[in-house]
Amino acid sequence: MDHIQSLQDWAPAQRNPEHPLLIAGPCSAESETQVLRTAQALSKMPQVHYLRAGIWKPRTRPNTFEGVGEAGLPWLKLARRETGLPIATEVANAAHVELALKHEVDLVWIGARTTVSPFAIQEIAEALQGTDIPILVKNPMNADLSLWLGAIERFTNVGLTKLGAIHRGFSSYQPSEYRNLPLWQFPMELKRRFPGLPVICDPSHIAGQRDMIYSVAQKALDLDMDGMMIETHPNPEEALSDAKQQVTPEMLADIVKRLALRNSVVENPQFQSELKELRVLIDRIDQDILEALAHRMQVVRKIGDAKIRSGVTALQVSRMDAILKKQTEKAVEMELNPDHIHDIYRSIHEESVRLQTEMMRDSDQKSNA
Ligand code: PEP
Ligand code: MN
Repeated sequence: MDHIQSLQDWAPAQRNPEHPLLIAGPCSAESETQVLRTAQALSKMPQVHYLRAGIWKPRTRPNTFEGVGEAGLPWLKLARRETGLPIATEVANAAHVELALKHEVDLVWIGARTTVSPFAIQEIAEALQGTDIPILVKNPMNADLSLWLGAIERFTNVGLTKLGAIHRGFSSYQPSEYRNLPLWQFPMELKRRFPGLPVICDPSHIAGQRDMIYSVAQKALDLDMDGMMIETHPNPEEALSDAKQQVTPEMLADIVKRLALRNSVVENPQFQSELKELRVLIDRIDQDILEALAHRMQVVRKIGDAKIRSGVTALQVSRMDAILKKQTEKAVEMELNPDHIHDIYRSIHEESVRLQTEMMRDSDQKSNA
């Protein structure tokens, strides 16, 4: 696998290195005063590693605030000079990269609307080739893991190694309490596919409202994510973009104070031996589950033979409904999550029907031969 550096190799060490990576700052740079005020407040928090601010804003509709553009980059530089906080911004094409490098931005991220476009990512990767700047890649707007993986690969392919991913949730038509559905299995799978890739969470864009940021951030830390990007504005109500989800620096300090940091690896021998024992138990239960599934499939085959002999269809919708209903009701009695049990039984039943249709096809082939 291509080499990817760990966070410890590039995150600013003069800020609190014990704390998960924390990138904070306004959704958009709006004025020199706003950028400086934010930076001054954030620099008092040792947990903050980078000051973020969007300079070019990818907006859904034209004629809304599209960012201040290049004019905002000197404000970021000034903020770094005044506070020592390294600066980060979003780039969406080669021209943005060139300007960000010219103004000595310390870290760039790729927005969710850009990750969906392999042409744009390739162009950005080539513009960044040969530089040493860290690059964080947000997940694409839609729930497509390959697009996310592919974008990261385009950066590793040109030899860039200071890479990370930002989980910012996925847009959905489904009504939901979130602005963007977290679909936590995606960042978990990304970590599995790219071991060592730092993955940080953007609870602001997942939540869409400030009251939920703490709980989303805590969940991300509990899933062993490596940090957070949290939109912070001195006066969120007046923000020119994403007003509802931005927090003040004071609110950020409160969120950070409340977050529980847990360890992914623990040396404590008592914990290790307890864990080992419980995992032996889990492995045994998993063996029982597999044996029960294998036994169930044997019975499914027998039913398949009987159906073939009597010329009955593999799928009987009423039977499927009855199984799902019975098992989800039992799940509730047994204090199991009925949605989870419903999904499991739907999958088991689908596999049973698939097996029986295959048996029917083989039997038809034999009798037609
Ligand atoms: C942002 O970080 O302000 C932004 C535009 O985010 P996203 O690309 O996740 O929508
Ligand atoms: Mn934003």
